[in-house]
Amino acid sequence: MQKFKKRLTPIGFVSAVLTVFWLTTTFTYNAFTAPLVNVSFSDTLFKEKQVADTQWIQIGFVGDIMAHLTQLNAQKQPDGTYDFSNNYKWMAPLFATNDVMIGNLETTFAGASQGYSAYPKFNTPDALAEALKGANFDILATANNHMYDTGTKGLDRTLEILTKNDLNYTGSRLTTEQPRYAIRQVGNTKVGVLAYTYESGRTENGIITINGIHVKHADTNRLNTFDPWNLAPSVQEMREEMDRMTKDSVEIFIAVMHWGYEYKTMPADYQKALADSLHQLGFHAVLGSHPHVVQPMDFLVDSTRGHQTYVLYSAGNFISNQRYETLQNYHTEDGVYVVLKFQKIEDSAPVLCSVMHEPTWVNRYKKNGKYYYEVMPVKTTLSSEEILNELEDAQIQRIKNSLDRTMNILQNFKELPLQLN
Ligand SMILES: [Zn+2]
Repeated sequence: MQKFKKRLTPIGFVSAVLTVFWLTTTFTYNAFTAPLVNVSFSDTLFKEKQVADTQWIQIGFVGDIMAHLTQLNAQKQPDGTYDFSNNYKWMAPLFATNDVMIGNLETTFAGASQGYSAYPKFNTPDALAEALKGANFDILATANNHMYDTGTKGLDRTLEILTKNDLNYTGSRLTTEQPRYAIRQVGNTKVGVLAYTYESGRTENGIITINGIHVKHADTNRLNTFDPWNLAPSVQEMREEMDRMTKDSVEIFIAVMHWGYEYKTMPADYQKALADSLHQLGFHAVLGSHPHVVQPMDFLVDSTRGHQTYVLYSAGNFISNQRYETLQNYHTEDGVYVVLKFQKIEDSAPVLCSVMHEPTWVNRYKKNGKYYYEVMPVKTTLSSEEILNELEDAQIQRIKNSLDRTMNILQNFKELPLQLN
């Protein structure tokens, strides 16, 4: 019931201890302005940490992993092979601290025989999968508007290449017998991740289109898609997937949504509506991408059930060639690496204890006539003499500007220091 739901918009964050914190928030209650409230995340549980049987589960997420043409040229080696590993050299050590690391793979692996390509139809060398594995990713979301760029062959081969590189996926599947979600076991806790993408439309005959491409009837049910103009049937499908995950003993539920409008720094109404539905289904987190810019975070709290859902409407671009030089839009250079920390005590249900945000910025620079792309962890970079020594003043200024943009959009959310161990 709407009556019991509170939409929270954090305006401040008061905390001294890493996993014990309160969010000072305003919330709207129907159309009325509501008073300030404090939301406490299980501080009493935390105090028992030393004596109780406690397990910590750390989950990381970044947004769109793009491979534009300039990037393909940059990653091509003198012998004609591709290597994307330098893109992630600064992020990989941070990702290594997670139990589950998730990203959005916004391309396909259709193989060299189809010809590598970028916008508007992406087909990237398999070496990207190898680099993502090397960067400590665990699960790639394949549900996005470029998932069908190379048709059935690319759809299937993408999943085969991910599997070959020991990466899990959610968003598409080889057969309808496979689940739509991915599960990772962390200690004795199972984390379930379910990814979906918006459809670009439906024809009069009910044929789904992704990125304007007609999806073959035989493939339709192998893609996790929703109709943004008619959410209810897809929410019902997500509910059924949630039930299946529960039967599979999943205890932490993560939704990864590809949605919204490109270059908009605020979520669309349908994103908010779907986030509300996912919150009501019981997801602990809703992690978004697609707009190519960062959108705000939010906490949705159901005071009757005590259930809370963290929402990041868009994590922005994790890596791409979209930037001021190409689009005259600085926002496309920015991303957010978000870390969710759950605590599970004995047999109790896991509780989301802390959320940390590390803004990211794509450093593209030219050396000896060749472009280099490196994703920088912004706060880590600005506090590290070692990394700063490698950068020019102009790059450092751009990193500082990126930090300001991202933190402003996240809505005054002052996060805790990133804990790297
Ligand atoms: Zn997209």
